[in-house]
Amino acid sequence: MRAAVIKEWGTPLEVTDVPKPEPGPGEVLVRISASGVCHTDIHQWKGDWPPVQALMIQHGVRILGHEGIGVVEEVGLGVSTLKKGDRVGVPWMNYWCGRCEYCLSGYPHWCPHAKYTSVHVDGTHAEYAIISERATPRIPKEISDVEAAPLMCAGVTAYGAVRKLITEAAIPPGKPIAIIGAAGGLGHYAVQIAKAFGYTVVGIDVGAERVKFVEKLGADYAVDVGEADKFVMDKWGGVYASVVFTPRLEGYRLGLRLLRPLGALVFVGLPDMKEGGLELYPLVVVGRGIRIFGSSVGVTHEFEELFNLVVQGKVKSHVTKTASLSEINEVFKDLEEGKIVGRAVLKI
Ligand SMILES: [Zn+2]
Ligand SMILES: [Zn+2]
Repeated sequence: MRAAVIKEWGTPLEVTDVPKPEPGPGEVLVRISASGVCHTDIHQWKGDWPPVQALMIQHGVRILGHEGIGVVEEVGLGVSTLKKGDRVGVPWMNYWCGRCEYCLSGYPHWCPHAKYTSVHVDGTHAEYAIISERATPRIPKEISDVEAAPLMCAGVTAYGAVRKLITEAAIPPGKPIAIIGAAGGLGHYAVQIAKAFGYTVVGIDVGAERVKFVEKLGADYAVDVGEADKFVMDKWGGVYASVVFTPRLEGYRLGLRLLRPLGALVFVGLPDMKEGGLELYPLVVVGRGIRIFGSSVGVTHEFEELFNLVVQGKVKSHVTKTASLSEINEVFKDLEEGKIVGRAVLKI
């Protein structure tokens, strides 16, 4: 099969022929037709995250990509809920055990036996990829390959984070919440999802162009980062939650400042470790009853809920670039240089 393979970390990927993988027990082989390119790909490719790189080396993984869409071509031993021809996705979560405390309480994200696509198992920038039956979302016919691809990571990560406002923070619809980094690859989904949930959304980003985009997404209020403190305090005296997608500590500091007592701070964006940590004053957290949640990716039932919103037209993907597998190095370069606003998808 054709695949984009890492030969040396951070040097151009080689699009070449490699052996087609075979599905083991409980796994399916998916013929990939579209594969979204995520910023995480760039970090993995350059070896920016040593623990992830170590796992890739340990498992012999050299193919990136965790936003795959395709059709089941072959099923492994014991697979009972999927068959040849089913249209499915291949997201970041590739396997979880289904038996541990995390899996059984609905949080396989933290399963100690979890496997990630493009980390423990080769990724989707290839003609074929493998995924376990239980981790495989089915794609509704109303959603095209290109629109579905970025939902596999960016979309479901935003969904999982905003969903926590209901399930963990118990914030009723109608209340004001802030999305920080609202114009970004994840934030633009979060604005639409939070609106679909009925929240009053203030979308915060940097610069007139990005603020304009946030407004177009349907945010109730789109505000530049420089005006956010005054705007929120004057209007409500604080928001019920800040969901932070910006990969900058400054975004978290802003999110914390904007909270009303009992407010929730949801962590999603990952600042470079070199930026250091966040200074949290216990006096502030205790005194104001601040609640903190970390949120990463999403799993099967969250995909189904998100797909429903997409089918209803309440959430749209902003794919601004499509390319072929052989053009992957140009797409990586454009993404690295910040030239792609919205998401890029490879058609394979
Ligand atoms: Zn991703
Ligand atoms: Zn488990």
